[in-house]
Amino acid sequence: MGTLGALGLELVQMDTPPTTAYLQIYTEKRCKANCQFCAQASGSFADLTHIARGMYVPFDLEAVVRRLKMAYEREYLARTCIQTVLYDTWWEDTIYLIKRIRKESQIPISLSVFPLNTGKYEDLKKIGVNDLVIPLDACTPELFDKIKGKATGGPYSWERHIEGMKLASAIFEKVGTHLIIGLGESDEDAIRIISSLSNNNVNTALFSYTYIPGTQSIASDKTENESVRHYRTVQLARHLILRKLTSGMMFKDGVLIDYGVDADVILQTIEDGNAFQTSGCPGCNRPMANETFSKILNYPKKPGDIEKHNIKKDLGLIV
Ligand code: SF4
Repeated sequence: MGTLGALGLELVQMDTPPTTAYLQIYTEKRCKANCQFCAQASGSFADLTHIARGMYVPFDLEAVVRRLKMAYEREYLARTCIQTVLYDTWWEDTIYLIKRIRKESQIPISLSVFPLNTGKYEDLKKIGVNDLVIPLDACTPELFDKIKGKATGGPYSWERHIEGMKLASAIFEKVGTHLIIGLGESDEDAIRIISSLSNNNVNTALFSYTYIPGTQSIASDKTENESVRHYRTVQLARHLILRKLTSGMMFKDGVLIDYGVDADVILQTIEDGNAFQTSGCPGCNRPMANETFSKILNYPKKPGDIEKHNIKKDLGLIV
């Protein structure tokens, strides 16, 4: 809906407009996979026009493609991101959409998709996909199985996702992934996988788990304050890992107890704010994708003084 606002196709009042156009290929067939958090999953009863908190309203493809070109030229938008679900003609439909966009515009295109074979990665690169993202979503193989793998009756496996990223990174210089924080992982689980992916040239974007009515619910044993502390800790740790600032982090019972940097570095990082902004492909800010106004975990623009004060509280640095 925010994308339609940024494209001038709907009147949408926004505090911060999206800087990327988020496009979901719409189908009334539910996805053949069954990721427990997803509104599109085969076992979900949720409204098909939602992904996380985002509303994806069906709209005329040609109108969207025309406006994308204009919005990119006028610098309202820096990128477009395409997502699809797994259904019979997903490949043909995805290729069609990418080609239509590329015919009109040079806007950078991200594609978020399940693991594919090398031939398909090469085809995607050839027709103009700039950034490929394979969402791992869960932080450990056990959680993966439970949330989107074997236990759900879906077709995905942790091993094929990891292998898919390796194959894709041989074709696209750098591959991305999404991790959903709040599915039952510890600080240590999340931080270890971010570090290991980063060593393999995979850039991790963080999402926070959001329950959507009608999806298959995922129980959490964390209090709200603990969930927020966990999210902020993982954001800060991710930033320090990606910028190679840490000399090694320490954990106790899965909880991070030492970032491996001086306290000054942590304070400077909070002051800078970038660690707590939306992470992912360049130009992606996903405003309000996971959050409500009462708690923003991924800031779609530089956090201000009030936000920085709240981040310190979230991290337990002040009361
Ligand atoms: S990081 Fe943003 S632009 Fe990149 S695939 Fe994820 S949602 Fe799309």
